[in-house]
Order: sequence, then C-alpha cells, then structure tokens
Amino acid sequence: MENGAHSPVVGSGDVNFDRETDVVVVGSGAAGLSAALAALADGATVILLEKSATLGGTTRKSSAFAWYPNHFGLQVDGYVDEKDDALRYMARLSQPDAYDPAGPTLGLEPWRYELLDAFYENAAVAAEALHEADVESIHLTEMSDYFAELPENKTPRGRTLRPRTRDGEPGTGVEFVEQGAEAVAARGGEILTEHAVESVVTDDDGRVVGVLARTPQGLVAIGARGGVVFGSGGFAQNQHRLADHMAAPIIGTCAAIGNTGDFLDIAEALGAPLRNMTYPWMTLLPLEWALDHDPEVKSLFHPPGDSMLFVNGAGRRTMNEKGPYNEMAQMFQRWDPRGARYPELFQFMVWDQGTQDLHSNERPANPIRPTGHPAPHVVKGDTLDDLAAALTQRVAELADHVPGLYIEADFGANLKAAVERFNDGARQGRDLDFERGESAIEVFFNEMFTGGIRDERNPLMFPLRDEGPYYATIIVPAALDTKGGPPIDRDSRVLRADGTPIPGLFGAGNCVASPAGKAYWAAGGTVGPAVVFGYLAGRTAAAAVPAQPGAAA
Ligand SMILES: Cc1cc2nc3c(=O)[nH]c(=O)nc-3n(C[C@H](O)[C@H](O)[C@H](O)COP(=O)(O)OP(=O)(O)OC[C@H]3O[C@@H](n4cnc5c(N)ncnc54)[C@H](O)[C@@H]3O)c2cc1C
Repeated sequence: MENGAHSPVVGSGDVNFDRETDVVVVGSGAAGLSAALAALADGATVILLEKSATLGGTTRKSSAFAWYPNHFGLQVDGYVDEKDDALRYMARLSQPDAYDPAGPTLGLEPWRYELLDAFYENAAVAAEALHEADVESIHLTEMSDYFAELPENKTPRGRTLRPRTRDGEPGTGVEFVEQGAEAVAARGGEILTEHAVESVVTDDDGRVVGVLARTPQGLVAIGARGGVVFGSGGFAQNQHRLADHMAAPIIGTCAAIGNTGDFLDIAEALGAPLRNMTYPWMTLLPLEWALDHDPEVKSLFHPPGDSMLFVNGAGRRTMNEKGPYNEMAQMFQRWDPRGARYPELFQFMVWDQGTQDLHSNERPANPIRPTGHPAPHVVKGDTLDDLAAALTQRVAELADHVPGLYIEADFGANLKAAVERFNDGARQGRDLDFERGESAIEVFFNEMFTGGIRDERNPLMFPLRDEGPYYATIIVPAALDTKGGPPIDRDSRVLRADGTPIPGLFGAGNCVASPAGKAYWAAGGTVGPAVVFGYLAGRTAAAAVPAQPGAAA
C-alpha cells in the first residue's frame, strides 16, 4: 500500500489488501480485548491493531474495576439482581430529567433504553467469557455503588469485579490488559502495535471490508471478511474535539495519549450521527498535574485526609470533598451568571500536619506526598495567613496561562472562617454543611485509601490543628476519557442517522455513544459496558464472516 494522506473512507477499488482476516479489531483496551476474545471464541480469525507502542490504552492505566449487573458472583449465592431494578437504577441516573418509572422506556430516549437493556441482558455472559479466557477477577462483595442510597438501587453492593494477579492478589488494568492480550495470542489472534487506523475500506455496497493503518514502515491495508470492530477509546486527547463538544470546562485528562477520537471522523464520513458528546467520564486532578500532560498521570478519585477541606478562590467551602469523583467534578463546573465565570472551577485542597503525617504516601494518585519527596504541586505555610499568601503567589504565577484561575483578596480571612466551621462540625463528628461521610461509597473508599482513623464517629472528618504548618494544592475537574460517538444497536452495530446499521462496522467502549449520559453508576461503570459491548461486537462480527466456499454447512 502506498503512503500519503487518505480520507476516512476509501473505496475497495483503490486498495490491494496486504493481509486479510475475519475480524479486525481497532484498539487494545477493555472493549478491543473483549471483542477480540469473543470473535476468537466463535471461531473467527482476528487481527487486533493498536496505535501506540504499548498495549492497553486508558484501560492499562486504570484500576479496571468492572461493574456488571446480575453477574456470576452475585448469582453464585442465589441472589438475583432483578432486571427491572437494575434498569431503573441506571435510567434514573442516565437521564434524570426524563426518568419516568412508569414509562415504557423509563422515560429515556429509545436508543439509551435499548442499550441499557442489552447491557443488563449480556453483562453476566460477557463477564463469564473473560473469566473463561483466564482473565481473572475478584468479586468485591462489599463494594458499594456510587448511589447506594437511591431508592431505585435494590442491589447497592457487589456488582463490581476487579482484576486479579496470577498470584491471586488484587490487580489493576495492567493485569487486565496483559492477561487479555495473553488470551488473544493463546487463541491464535494476532496483535500488532504501532498500527494507527486512519481509514476504513468500503466495497461497492457500502460494506466496511477493511482498514488502512499507519505504521512506522508505511501504510498497511488489512481486509476484514466479517467486519471491523472499533474499540479505539474517546477523544479526550483531542483539544479541537473537546472545544467543539464539551458542555462545560474540563482541565486535563488521564486518557491514554492515543485517544484522539480517530473513529469520529470515520463514523461521520459514513453517515453516522454523534451522540452523548457533551459529558466525559469525569474526575479530579491537581492543576499542575493536569498542565504537565504526563501520559502516566493517575486520577484523584478520593481526596485523602480527614483534617482536609476544599475552598474556592474566595476561600469558601462549597462541597463535600469525599463524594464520587464524577459528581464532584460536575460541581466544579457551576456557572455564575452574575460574575460570568465558573467560580468553583479551581478548588484549593487544604490540609494540616495531622493529615500530612497520616495520609501521605507514594501512590501515584495521592497529591499528599511523604515529607521530603518532590511535590511541586504543593504549597506550604506556617500559618493559614502564610498559606493564603503562598497560594496567592502560586495563582499569580499560573494565571497567565490558566484562564479563569483566581484568588480573592479576602481569601485568607474566609479560609480561616471555613476551617473554623469545618472544625466545629468535626468536633461533633458530623459535617454541618455537606453531609461528608454519610454515604456508603465515601466510607468504602475511605477504608480503601485511608492511612488511619482518628474519629470512629465520622472517620472522614477531623479538626485541623491550631498550629501549622498547613499545605494546599489546586484541584481541577478532568476527564478519564470521553463517552460520545456514533450510536450502536444492541448487537454493537454502528448506526447511520436513519437508524440502519452500517454493514461491517461495529463499536464498543468510549469510542461510541454511551447510554450512561452524564452518569457514573459505580466503580467499573465504564469498563463494564466496554467489555459487554465489546463482547457483543466480537460475536456479531464473527457471525458476519461469509462461509468459506466448500465449508460444511
Ligand atoms: C487512572 C484511571 C483509573 C480508572 N479506573 C477505572 C476503573 O477502575 N473502572 C472503570 O470502569 N473505569 C476506570 N477508568 C476509566 C477506564 O479506564 C476507561 O473508561 C476504559 O478503560 C476505556 O476502555 P476502552 O476500551 O473504551 O478504551 P481504551 O482502554 O482507552 O483503549 C483504546 C485504545 O485504542 C487505541 N487507539 C486509538 N485510536 C486508534 C487508532 N486510530 N488505531 C488503532 N488504535 C487506536 C488507543 O491507543 C488505546 O490503546 C479509569 C481511568 C483512569 C485514567
């Protein structure tokens, strides 16, 4: 295949395939690996193409917790996670403004309902398929959903699995990806890194029959008899797309650097609409980490510390610092119509020496670094006034290239008042303003990440000391990755604007429209659907492989 720029869709008349296989899978994260394994299990041959030199995308960086309603771990004990209940929980959060428990689609747009239904119906079998392929997991029986207290949630615990190492220890995305890739190879699948798919190839009937991939050696054309499955991640690494589609500001991302939304151009060129483009899977990051664009950056899921609080640029506390990250990040995006700005976009996480001593560690996601370790994102002051002065200086240094970053003149005075009120509540064992420590997921995460408990009444709160030093870092809303793209049907076939499938084209994971809306149902709420729709895509693509001439019926 010759080199040169190609449009996102190329006619097969202009292409000589260098290779052919039954199913081409694009991307080696949760969606791609699940698709490849499902296609292989159904007897198809598979070539999996990965743009980066390293396998795994954002999945590799993740904890790879995976959320599956009614999965085998729940069923083992005879427990049934009823379909109606699971759908209500998901629907209530996916489109809260439209949710109607009595409506035929629970008030959701039909495509969302259809996908939630398919997710429920196939979650157990897709999770089981990974298990059968020796991609190991541990059932987190006590892990709480992010909205365990909602009346719609009848199975508030136990829907999440996490990876397991070969030694039986708790694993992460690294184990998920390595075990998944091992399983693909063991079943005869071929995995090619540094193969960035730039175009799909269509035949005269408009069927997708292959791809063009950019490699260090030039362009390669690979034919796909059954079709092409995209699992190429979101577009959080594409600044133009973010500017076009995000409803509110995010600053930084933890998505894999290859996730530039390449599939969006291809899908649009084939006549697919784009849906669910306005919300990412949200999280939090220290500002300096977000600005660094370090490809290894990890997300701040659960801000550590009991004697720790957030205040905004006016020095006022505005939220529960321990809520689910996706929800907290949305609170950062509050728009102030009078000031015409986002007053909560930058929060100052403030802690004392007690939290520094108890909760610092070297986990990459923890901004509270052990004393003596490099922490350029942290400022320090001997008193709260000194801390306010140091933060004012830090803001002045950064403000030129961080639009909207501000700190007000009375920040120090307001910070002292905020600390006093926080301490008042902590002495009583409760948050006087934001219910910190009162939901199951906060307590679960606290147990998971805590360095120690100082007050059993509310382990998430403790008064800041009257004596310094004090510490602070600036926190911003960020994206794990995005979750918008072309719509798929319940078999993961990519749909045109008129609802008809594009023959030979399948998608799963963050490169297609998620039915989740702006919701994040639980830990694993992104990997679970990526696995399930990847599984369905792999199976549907394998079933579309034409019978070989002469093969037995
Ligand atoms: C620190 C962190 C922790 C997280 N923890 C969890 C968790 O525990 N549970 C959970 O549910 N979610 C978690 N997430 C989110 C989760 O990791 C992602 O939403 C999920 O892994 C996405 O899977 P995917 O298969 O859609 O995409 P990815 O895993 O991002 O894979 C996409 C792959 O496609 C490749 N690609 C892109 N374009 C092309 C192209 N043109 N040609 C070839 N290849 C291409 C990319 O390089 C990438 O390798 C976490 C995220 C982070 C950053």
